[in-house]
Amino acid sequence: MSTVLIVEDEARITSFLTKGLKAAGFVPKVADTGRDAIEMALLGDIDIILLDVGLPDIDGFEVLEQLRGQGVTTPVIMLTARASVADRVAGLEGGADDYLPKPFSFDELVARIRLRLRPRKAPAASEPGVLEHRDLALDIRTRRVRVDRQWVDLSAREFALAEVFMRHPGQVLSREQLLANVWGLDFDPGSNVVDVYVSYLRGKLGKERLETVRGVGYRLV
Ligand code: CA
Repeated sequence: MSTVLIVEDEARITSFLTKGLKAAGFVPKVADTGRDAIEMALLGDIDIILLDVGLPDIDGFEVLEQLRGQGVTTPVIMLTARASVADRVAGLEGGADDYLPKPFSFDELVARIRLRLRPRKAPAASEPGVLEHRDLALDIRTRRVRVDRQWVDLSAREFALAEVFMRHPGQVLSREQLLANVWGLDFDPGSNVVDVYVSYLRGKLGKERLETVRGVGYRLV
């Protein structure tokens, strides 16, 4: 469950937000001054901050500046009645992640919270550029295969078929699976295109590498 820090001095609004956020499955915490908000945010354990601009001590912009200045990267959604463009720009430039002018609908607030809480996408580096199996290597970027230290060119279909085998080494893949993965589901299942391409691949990779499993399909050994 995600903890939401509500920074707001108006009791009516904090009580409305607290009840609503609890009902939506969040853990709400309240700070009713800017200084309390900074203290609570620095302690950590807060997943997102709803920050009002009008606070009794220092205003929301000042709170934001101090938090970002102290390295707090927790997402911040600014809430304010001051719906002017200047305020909005100041908030975003000050490091706010979003800005919601009052009055706002509760549903919209929850949608924005969920959006900001969504985990950042992992960098694309997690996808390996080369798939390897024993002395075979398939380079996804150059679309070539290395067989026993020799690089061999493959046609687009041969490459797609080789990729499916390399992603499931040792596993028996049925003709239907191969057809669906390489040619798409709308291809005629009665076609012998899979067998034809397996024989092409055998010609390039070596006959013994793709084993026929009778009545089932093929396996990369
Ligand atoms: Ca206020």
